[in-house]
Amino acid sequence: MPEEINIGEIIDKFLDTESRAKVIGSYYPSEAGMCMRRVYYSYMIPKSEDRHSLRIFALGNNIHSFLADALKTAGDFSVVNEEVPVRINYSDEETTFSIYGRMDDFIVTQEGKKIIIEAKSVSDINRVESPDEKHLMQINLYLKAEAADYGMLVYIDKKNMDIRQFRVDFNEELYNKTVQRIKDLDLHLKTGKLPPAEYYFNDQKVWECKYCPYRNECMEAIAKGES
Ligand code: SF4
Repeated sequence: MPEEINIGEIIDKFLDTESRAKVIGSYYPSEAGMCMRRVYYSYMIPKSEDRHSLRIFALGNNIHSFLADALKTAGDFSVVNEEVPVRINYSDEETTFSIYGRMDDFIVTQEGKKIIIEAKSVSDINRVESPDEKHLMQINLYLKAEAADYGMLVYIDKKNMDIRQFRVDFNEELYNKTVQRIKDLDLHLKTGKLPPAEYYFNDQKVWECKYCPYRNECMEAIAKGES
């Protein structure tokens, strides 16, 4: 093998994806609980994921595939479907939009229990004491869209595959809160009004600003008084 072959470059080329512009009116369960300003920017100023993020996503996807294979070969379920598409059409007197997602796994036990599984890879499982609200919002939307008995949020440590799992039952209050957030995002996008910098002013979430691709734009807006 010639010495000049650069495996890192080959991996990055393999992972490189064209960023597709998002369409206002089409929203995603995984983004419902994210910083609304960040999601707003992702529609208004689409950016490709950076190399570091693409590599981390690829690792996460591999873990999800591994879990799906394990479920399929377990023999405990009569149905195991992965990447199941979900669509919720929302309409009221003020607006109309659709929510599109994909459940990681939908399984049916031999006893007929239908369970939605959403897996999240994390860098340190010991920090996961309870489910993240944005993940609860995501799986709760799936539970609204698909007739299932309950959901399971499964956190998997990327280092050693240690696991923490949480049963999630459909929560109408959380569903209404989630839809209201999407309605708010929809209104901001349709009026071109920047949403609040939610994470920057939240002590528990401000650490995520460090990894936000729109940090510069957001900090400039805050400096101009758009907080
Ligand atoms: S820097 Fe923080 S507050 Fe600003 S858009 Fe990104 S996540 Fe939101």
